[in-house]
Amino acid sequence: MRLWGFLFALQALVGAPPAPDPWRYEATLATDSRELSVEAWLPAGVAGTFSVDEGCEPFIADVERESEGQWSPVDQARDAWYPPTDRPLHLRYRFRLEAAAAALHNSNQVSRRAGLTSSVTMASPAAWILRPWKAAANTPLRIHCATPPGIRLVTGLRTSEGGTAIDDTYDHLDYAPYTAFGPFDVDRFASGGVEVQMATLPGTLALSDADLRAWAGEAIANLRVAYGTFPTDRLVVMVLPSGGQGVVFGSTKGGGGPALSILLARTATFEDLKRDWVLTHECIHLSHPDLPRAQHWFEEGLATYLEPLLRARRGIISPEEVWRNFMDNLHHGLPRTGDQGLDHTRSWGATYWGGTLFCLLADLEIRQASGGKKSLDDALRGIVVGGGNHLARWSIEKTLETGDQAVGGHVLRDLHRRLGLRAETTDLDALFKRLGVGIHDEKVTFDEGAPMAAVRRGMAR
Ligand SMILES: [Zn+2]
Repeated sequence: MRLWGFLFALQALVGAPPAPDPWRYEATLATDSRELSVEAWLPAGVAGTFSVDEGCEPFIADVERESEGQWSPVDQARDAWYPPTDRPLHLRYRFRLEAAAAALHNSNQVSRRAGLTSSVTMASPAAWILRPWKAAANTPLRIHCATPPGIRLVTGLRTSEGGTAIDDTYDHLDYAPYTAFGPFDVDRFASGGVEVQMATLPGTLALSDADLRAWAGEAIANLRVAYGTFPTDRLVVMVLPSGGQGVVFGSTKGGGGPALSILLARTATFEDLKRDWVLTHECIHLSHPDLPRAQHWFEEGLATYLEPLLRARRGIISPEEVWRNFMDNLHHGLPRTGDQGLDHTRSWGATYWGGTLFCLLADLEIRQASGGKKSLDDALRGIVVGGGNHLARWSIEKTLETGDQAVGGHVLRDLHRRLGLRAETTDLDALFKRLGVGIHDEKVTFDEGAPMAAVRRGMAR
């Protein structure tokens, strides 16, 4: 223990270790988008076992290395390639993108999304960047992508050269954010201190750039209500046209970079965007660390709890709508017979509404314990300030401890023991009564004489 402390102290004195030599990739997308040809230059001394994301290996072909102007095949055994790494390495290979999309059909790896007039290929670099199986996390990676006319790269990874090169690090590749090739229009603008890229497919929407900018601006403003700032300095929104109505579906991937994928109905109007909650929900996912599968309930619960409160505080929806939503749905989150706590329950109800109930109870306890001076917002800000945004992979213990430290006490830790590790139930009727929320003649009513009425007013104004 002391030795580690000494080493860290020494490292602090001499500064962080220097970044390793960069790895350079040059990828060319074929005119018909069926294939990527990749050439790579890596320094001597990298780990000698190369591969790609599990399941994507069959689509890597013709791996060769160059030596004194001659190309020769690289040894392959099962799912890995073994080039000599005692000298600087110059590699080339092909990735069969279209075949991978058809076989994998997984938007986290490779898939094709065909629209009426155009198609987009989701192509996570983790699937097609052949790389040493281990390396220093901060190893710089530059992947320049040459695309056919009209086709652009859109990615949540950091980019340079006007968006044509990925300029990021090794660790962000393993959990790479959404990355796609397609005939995108990319509108770049700043909003609330955030550099936004809004990628759309031309001719697919009835909305103007100004409409879409306003939509992103609202989501960023919503986040600032709780966090004071947006949790990241940039935001990439990939808008994919869809059937249905309004904002149909949103998703983000934990880690790698702030990219959201949003399915937006071709018929969506500006009114739909003004009423939308999806973009705010997805942006909240950028503000917490990526947690293990067992605590997916915290990620979804936080977004489900916070999103309506933020919109209510900005006057977009009424407090009545917030409480109606909670009264109608929180019962889905109560433990059922045989449940052993949220950490051990994978149902939709436990994940979304069990998590929401956790956040509501935490918020109430923090507000009560601090006499209304602190709230869950302070704990969440503490987590982001402590480095716990979507780029971090934390345990639930570290996440809740960091939040607890920001407000003092152990509300989050103790609540996790009660609801996460055990299946403590909550008397929701009694809770709503204490908060002074009721329903009469189908309308939400507030009882300002209720013991926790002031706390309730502080949450959704
Ligand atoms: Zn979500």
